Amino acid sequence: RIYLDWNATAPMLPEARDAMIEALSGVHGNASSVHHEGQVARTVIERARRAVATAVGAKAQSVVLTGGATESNNQVLRHHIVEHARPSLVSSAVEHPSVMEVVRELGQKEVPCVVWPVDSRGRLDLAWLRARFVEAAAEDSQLASPTMVSVMWANNEVGNVYPIDEIAALVHEFGALLHVDATQALGRVPVDFEAAGVDLMALSFHKMGGPKGIGAIVAREGLKIEATLAGGHQERGRRPGTENVPAAAGLSGALKALAEQGEAWGEALRKKRAVFLEALAEQSIEYELRGDLENHLPNTLNVAFKGIDGEDLLLALDLEGVSASSGSACTAGSLEPSHVVLAMGFEERDARRSVRFSFGPSTPEEDLVEAAKRVGVLVTRLSGYAAQG
Ligand code: PMP
Repeated sequence: RIYLDWNATAPMLPEARDAMIEALSGVHGNASSVHHEGQVARTVIERARRAVATAVGAKAQSVVLTGGATESNNQVLRHHIVEHARPSLVSSAVEHPSVMEVVRELGQKEVPCVVWPVDSRGRLDLAWLRARFVEAAAEDSQLASPTMVSVMWANNEVGNVYPIDEIAALVHEFGALLHVDATQALGRVPVDFEAAGVDLMALSFHKMGGPKGIGAIVAREGLKIEATLAGGHQERGRRPGTENVPAAAGLSGALKALAEQGEAWGEALRKKRAVFLEALAEQSIEYELRGDLENHLPNTLNVAFKGIDGEDLLLALDLEGVSASSGSACTAGSLEPSHVVLAMGFEERDARRSVRFSFGPSTPEEDLVEAAKRVGVLVTRLSGYAAQG
């Protein structure tokens, strides 16, 4: 089979798998215990914390290990609301549901929340954000001044990469905090927490070859992060619950591979993308690429095929041995079009055409060429059905 859904989750790196197997068979202590076994487990956790800090250019004490980016995003946003006297949020229109849904819920609880719109290529206009701050600062303004802005480093569905350093500078000019979901950026484009001037960041490691169910919050020094859960002192009280030692070992393995091979991965991904695009162009089919192709993840392509419903194509591709995604959420049996593509201004029917192909450094080029050929055959066949019926 040809797996082109790395943005949903990536196959595990051998370095991550080996480290996990070693931990599963040899490290059975609880990292909070003072005896030898406990201390061995503690070493695994602290090594993982340092690996995360090194990977994203932060200090080890800034890193809180969590159960993934959904948890990290929830905790950062909810904590900000509790901590701040008059919280007010801005989040981009293309955030992951673990940001969007929390913001929606907080909005219903009367926390002022506004959505930063995107254009037809999914780009964010910094002038919009500046205008929002300036308007709120006016003497007779009824608007709440934003206290936190939440923007992703890279988008999971269309692959856009956002100018985080510029956004951070603007947000800080007005005294607010910037929270960044860097889940899809890690392992694909350089991520530097301190150089970009980010205040809070959410990470997950299963998109880049680490284990599922482990993530992190990175918080600038001096920023408090309170726990969502109660009942334990782990992670200095910021994430209670017995630590997931095997997953921490796996994440260290994955990040070791990233440190050693990250640059080569970026280059390999760009080449693979070119190969896939070339193979797609050779098919006699009509399609358009969605997103901001100038500021883009090298592993992601969001493609809309003329006259074809994305779900129909995905099902047909699955039968032909190719796994891709629409990036859409399947809610109670009804297939919703992607909120990201809708936010870009496409009509519902047009939004449903989006098919996301995402691959990784180990995806063979031949697989990409073969997948493009199968896409060509299926799109032609499905267009035939559409013309008849
Ligand atoms: N943010 C983004 C941008 C994502 O793509 C995902 C995973 N789809 C998440 C957050 C959630 O991460 P996790 O699976 O670790 O909860």
